[in-house]
Amino acid sequence: MSRFRAAYWDPEGTRYGIPTFWWGGAPAGYATRRQLRTRGLRPGGQPVAAQILWRGVGGTRAAYLYRLDLARPKRTASPAQQRAISAALRARRICPACGELRDYYIPRSLGECLTCYDARPGR
Ligand SMILES: [Zn+2]
Repeated sequence: MSRFRAAYWDPEGTRYGIPTFWWGGAPAGYATRRQLRTRGLRPGGQPVAAQILWRGVGGTRAAYLYRLDLARPKRTASPAQQRAISAALRARRICPACGELRDYYIPRSLGECLTCYDARPGR
């Protein structure tokens, strides 16, 4: 164990305030934000739980770690958002002329459902 490595070894956080490990020395159960993302997770509002310090370009570099057990699945559309989306899609199936809900989207080029379009005089 070299001296600078030892300086970055503080698993109890007594020196740095949060548990601190050297590169490659973090125990299981921690992940960086990028590592969380590759697992389909996000920090989920938890504070930084630990850090990795290493000597890099320009001095000491830090990477922040989050606890895997507190991570949440990546955000998907909320129920309210999903309702809004399906309502918007449904609205595109309602004919502005007759007000009927059709099985298809009202063609923008016609501006009305096919029934209305076909019923137009002169067609
Ligand atoms: Zn119609």
